[in-house]
Amino acid sequence: MMAPDAHDPSMIECQSAARTLYDYLDGRLDAVMSARIDHHIATCTACAEHFAFARRVLALLPVAVPLPEPSSPLHARVTSALTAAGLLTPGA
Ligand SMILES: [Zn+2]
Repeated sequence: MMAPDAHDPSMIECQSAARTLYDYLDGRLDAVMSARIDHHIATCTACAEHFAFARRVLALLPVAVPLPEPSSPLHARVTSALTAAGLLTPGA
């Protein structure tokens, strides 16, 4: 049994909320801790903004991770022009 907070045991501090931010967004917190974070975000504007920002960043990550397409439109145009001119064998 952990020592209860001095005040409302359902309350957590901003520092605790920030520490659990990524676990929370990953859904790795247990139901009790997750509910405490929910409650904190609902009552703390600073953390609400912090969590909303982190959520947006995480949402963008899958888009940012894939490697860029190696062949550019220019490369494709040059390749097709060379192929049409008989200077390049398709698939070579
Ligand atoms: Zn806070």
